[in-house]
Amino acid sequence: MANQVFHLVIASNNHHKVSEIREMAPLGYVFHSLKDKNISQELPETSGTIPGNATEKAREVWKISGMNCLSDDSGLCVTALNGEPGVDSAFYAGLPRNDEANYNLLLKKLEGRSDRRAYFLTVMALIINGKEFLFEGRVEGTISKKPIGDSGFGYDPVFVPNGFDKTFAQMSEKEKNAISHRRNALAKVISFLKVYTEMQAI
Ligand code: IMP
Repeated sequence: MANQVFHLVIASNNHHKVSEIREMAPLGYVFHSLKDKNISQELPETSGTIPGNATEKAREVWKISGMNCLSDDSGLCVTALNGEPGVDSAFYAGLPRNDEANYNLLLKKLEGRSDRRAYFLTVMALIINGKEFLFEGRVEGTISKKPIGDSGFGYDPVFVPNGFDKTFAQMSEKEKNAISHRRNALAKVISFLKVYTEMQAI
């Protein structure tokens, strides 16, 4: 059907994520925040994996609202630590959540290690017309020896993306967003939605 408008709920309370997704949205898609839809409950993140958590959050929003939805879950995966902190990135050093304690613990675990390869991973789960799709975005890099920079959040001060000689925390938001794991995953979702729209119009 031509000129159909798809409405999707973004399963996140992070307004940066909501505006980033809206900024990239193709014609014919309207993205709503959880707040717009009066969804205030905590979304579950109990699966133990990044794709599992993304799926869990999208299914919960689908169950509550019956609306098409998009969720995401991210983390930092360090090769020499068998993928740690991974799904535990937010609370690596325990509760309460503390970004500085998290990256200091990571630096401690990597002391004396020469393999400092790591990547940020985002998995986005899309539920559209009741069907589920997963999209993955990555940015590869290395973990610095010490934290540098004041921008961003989380592990940004210790992550140097490949091809750069500075950490994410030394980059402007625009510079980081252009290459970030979230942006890579989102670009795949948007490409998919564009094709999906064209197929619906046939
Ligand atoms: P979330 O699933 O996007 O909330 O990410 C979970 C955790 O992964 C965050 O609390 C951060 O510790 C870490 N993380 C995810 N994305 C980034 C990033 O872009 N920079 C730094 N840390 C991140």
